[in-house]
This record gives sequence, structure tokens and C-alpha cells, in this order.
Amino acid sequence: MTTLTREQIVAIDKARIWHPYTPMRPYIDEVDPVVVDRAEGMYLYDVNGARLIDGNASWWVNIVGHNHPRLVEALERQARRLLHCSLAGMVHEPAVRLAEKLLPKCGASFSRLFFSDDGSTAVEVAIRMAHQFWRNVGRPEKRRFVTLEGAFHGETIGAASVSGSPVFHEALGGLVFDRVLVPSPAACAGGLGGAGWQGPAFAEIERMLDERAGEIAAIIVEPLVQGAAGMLMYPAEQLARIVRAARERDVLVICDEVFVGYGRTGTFLAEHAAGVEADLVCLAKGFSGGAMPMAATLANARVFEAFCGGPEVTLWYGHSFTGNPLGCAVALETLAVIEEERLLERQPPIAAALARGLEAVSRHPWVRDPRRTGLIGAFTLAAPGAGGAQGADYLAEPGWRLYAEARKRGALLRPLGNVVYTVLPLNAEISVVEELFGIIEESLRAAFG
Ligand code: PMP
Repeated sequence: MTTLTREQIVAIDKARIWHPYTPMRPYIDEVDPVVVDRAEGMYLYDVNGARLIDGNASWWVNIVGHNHPRLVEALERQARRLLHCSLAGMVHEPAVRLAEKLLPKCGASFSRLFFSDDGSTAVEVAIRMAHQFWRNVGRPEKRRFVTLEGAFHGETIGAASVSGSPVFHEALGGLVFDRVLVPSPAACAGGLGGAGWQGPAFAEIERMLDERAGEIAAIIVEPLVQGAAGMLMYPAEQLARIVRAARERDVLVICDEVFVGYGRTGTFLAEHAAGVEADLVCLAKGFSGGAMPMAATLANARVFEAFCGGPEVTLWYGHSFTGNPLGCAVALETLAVIEEERLLERQPPIAAALARGLEAVSRHPWVRDPRRTGLIGAFTLAAPGAGGAQGADYLAEPGWRLYAEARKRGALLRPLGNVVYTVLPLNAEISVVEELFGIIEESLRAAFG
């Protein structure tokens, strides 16, 4: 129930709000935004009553469906007792219960959890920890970070520095720190994730580590799927090889599980598919059930022990809302829902429906490189006859033509330029997945014939 009319909301929005990742002139002049009134399961409802399938899980955060009743209840219960207090010299039950439950689920080697606010800060914390770890153990020359081409790790300057996307880096000029870029096993010419590319990509990573391990603090990776790069996928064995190569040369490993964690790729953490545990793990998005800005960075005992002393080895870092009780309560309930509703075990038929949908749309002549890992599905749009794609071309417009057609038919499919993708919640209903892919098929025909 809104008190303003839809027209009033849009008018004030266009006069006052600066939207993320949005060219604002065309937005103000041309865009009719979705004005969301409420949400349930996989659906968003506009105040005008239109129902839209949320094809990208609201920027990949929604993990157990919108407004899951148990999450709403957990938030209500917690809100009546304690909305917020800092975590400086204080603690509360939701924080300790969450830490106690989450750490063993992630892996036996993780001994500590540090709270922050979102994916970017979870990464920022990991960078600081890795950097200071080497200072604390008397090797300050190990201060560089290795990142994969096309990687995306967040918005803050540290997180952006370890990202490899040329489009987003352009405007940052000299603001970001120098990182070491290596080829990604996911990006390749003539087919995504093609086995022919992975060997050379890995050899290059290994060569760089051989030459420069003495100056490298950590390598940061998005396990299995490089999301913002264009949903570029690579097999678990490649991740295992990278982790092994880093460990053998005493380079720390940071797994950014912000997008892929919490079951999206089939295992609770994506790195579990490779049988590895990173030194530092970044969690956000699904971590709070997609309900609150809330994140965590997990550290193993080796990293933590190096900080476990006086002021000279302390991590001088923390946000006002670190460990917010509402966030902790809803994150704890998210874990309970995943466990009690057996959402990981129930994934195969949903993944199969996604695979069927991708196969059906791949018959359209504009669709290239249909790909899937767990509940993440994607394809690249290219004019018939064009070659395979290397990843997202953010400035390409075919994805937006498809977006417009899909929206008319009841689905939100915000593309990454020429890459169209769907990110499903763990409890996606198969009938809704089928409806979504029916809309994609019709929209492809309407947009490109
Ligand atoms: N890491 C990865 C892998 C991401 O995909 C993102 C966001 N898409 C981030 C970090 C940053 O997360 P946030 O937007 O919550 O700051």
C-alpha cells in the first residue's frame, strides 16, 4: 500500500535519486522504472499491479525467495529486542549463534568470522587481512594482489583495485592500486570455458607465481563463475589447481564467494566442489537471505593467529554496523531455512529445468554459448554468424532489446550488455522457471525475429 501515486513516485525519483550503474540522462528522459510495491517468492509486484519474475534475484542477493515468511518473522522478533548496538567490547546472541553455526558449514579450517556490510566490504576486509598478515609475520614485501582478467570484486577502492574489468576501471584512473592481472581459465577465444584455453591460462598463472611469489600477498578468485565478467564459468579442477599452486608457493588464497556462495553452484560454498578451503572467504548477498546489507569475511587459524597479539598486530578496522543484530538474526534464519527445507538436496530438478530452458533458447540464431553452473544460467547474444564471445560487452545493446520485450511479458532480465542470464533462488518453483524461459523464447523472437 503506497500513499503516493505511481506518477508521483516516478517524478520524485527522477528529480532526486541517483541510480547505481545507470546512465542518468537517458534514465530521466526515457525510462519508465519498475516501481516495486511488494515481493513474494520469485515475483516482484509493481504498484500498478504488474507481476514480474525477478530473473536476476535482485542483483543476485535473493537466495530463498522474496519475503520468505521465516526471514520476515526472524527480523520482526529481533527488531522487538535490539535493532542495533556496536560490536566494540560488546556482543549479542544472534552474532555468536551465527558464527557457531556458519563456520563449521564452511569448513573445518575456518576459525574466525569478521562482520561487515556488503560484498565490497567483505572483500576490502580480506585484502586488509592478507596485506597485514604478511607485515605481522615479518614479510612486509609480500603486499601485491593477483587477480583474474575480467574479475569483479566490488565497489570500494580496494575491492575495485583487485578487479579486472576494463569498463569499470577506466573511470578510476590512478585511484586504484596496482595489481597483477593473470588470464582467467574461464575466458577464452572460440567458446567459453573451453578446455583448450585452460591449460595455457593455468600455465601463465603458475609462471607468474614462480616469478613473483616473494612479493605477492594473495590471489583472489571468484570460484567457478566470474559473475560480472559475463557469467564466465570454469570447472572446479581449475580452481583446485590455482589454489594448490598458490599454497605451494606460500601465497594466500581469497575466495570471493559473495555471488556463488550459499548453494548457488550446487555446494554450500562453490569452493567445496573443488575440495579446497581458501585462507580467507568473502560472503555477502545470500548470506543475509538477501534481506539486509550484511557480510562476513572468514579467516583460517593461520591468518587469525598472526593478529592475535597487542596493538602492533591488531586489525584496526570496523564499520558502524559491523555485526548488526538484525542482520545476524536473519542470516541465522537463512541457514536454518536452507538446512530444514533441504534446499541443496532439492536443487537437481530445478537445475535440470534451467538446463532445459537454456537448451530451448539456444535454438535461436542469436544465442551463443549457453552455459550453466548450478542455478546460474547465461547465454551471449550475437548476430548470426558472429563468433563466440569472451565475456560481457557492457556497452552492447542487444541485451537491452531483450530486456524491454521480456518486461512487457512479465520478466525482469537485466543483462550484462550482450550477456543475458538468470540467477534462481534455491527454492525456485519449476513452473516459474518454465514460465521465465517461455518469456525469454517469445522475447527473443520479438526482438530479433
Ligand atoms: N564480489 C562479487 C563476486 C560480486 O559479484 C559483487 C557484486 N556483484 C561484489 C563482490 C560486491 O558486492 P556488493 O555489491 O554487495 O558490494
